[in-house]
Amino acid sequence: MYKDYPAAYQVSKGAALQVDKAFYDRVRESGAGRTLIEQFEVPIRTGRAWKVPAGHVFRVTTPIGPQVGDFNVWNANDPRERMWAARTRQLQGAHVSTYDRLWSNLPFLRPMVTITDDSLAGYGIDEHGGRLHDLLGTRCDPYVNKMLTGEDFHHHCHSNLTRAVLPHGLTEFDVHDVLNIFQCTGLNHDDMYFMKACPAKQGDYLEFFAEIDLLCALSTCPGGDLSLPMWGPDAQDPLTVCRPLGVEIYRLDEALLEGWRSPARAAYNGNHGLLIPKAEWEK
Ligand SMILES: [Zn+2]
Repeated sequence: MYKDYPAAYQVSKGAALQVDKAFYDRVRESGAGRTLIEQFEVPIRTGRAWKVPAGHVFRVTTPIGPQVGDFNVWNANDPRERMWAARTRQLQGAHVSTYDRLWSNLPFLRPMVTITDDSLAGYGIDEHGGRLHDLLGTRCDPYVNKMLTGEDFHHHCHSNLTRAVLPHGLTEFDVHDVLNIFQCTGLNHDDMYFMKACPAKQGDYLEFFAEIDLLCALSTCPGGDLSLPMWGPDAQDPLTVCRPLGVEIYRLDEALLEGWRSPARAAYNGNHGLLIPKAEWEK
């Protein structure tokens, strides 16, 4: 194996990457301080979108057994702001768990959610370097499927997410690189992306705290628990290993939110050196 090397993105100024763990611990352990306000299942090979107000909590669950979910998230008030998987990989990690944030794209660049609980956190890193809740890969889509297999299939995650967001005025162009919830992935010695069978069991969950007003969307991946290969010589239809996912949304008691503030967008003024003050011209 390789020697270790320090992370590139480190905090040198300010506290943007520092998480108030005591606050998120309180949210996780809120018990009677939280009220379930909405709960639904996303059937196999479909997508669903839902809103979560800032300061609320939501969970994605495995109500029956292993299943991976492709997750997208936007600012509910301005869908140009959405999750930025690449920067989140750099700021947090290529796989995320409790206390990690999902960051938004430019010019916003703020935490959209903070993960408050992960029933699979104990999985850690396996013998192949596999880890859970993947930001390395992206959604399956019908274009790459057609390219690889020659066949049309309309229930890939990209299509499921597209259908899910249409009622909210968004289109295929708004669907973006996902967080693959419950998905075990890594890079092999050839630097190639691998996916392993999902280790989730009935009742597992990943829990998020909404830092801003959110529109979320989730696809129950047609690959199901990813225990069967979807491409290559051994490819088969994984319909038998597809299961629904659950979503639960909770309101928190006001007292729990004391001291928390919805994060502001990044402080950079957006000039990019284009706006030159008049005084500079006169020098
Ligand atoms: Zn998929």
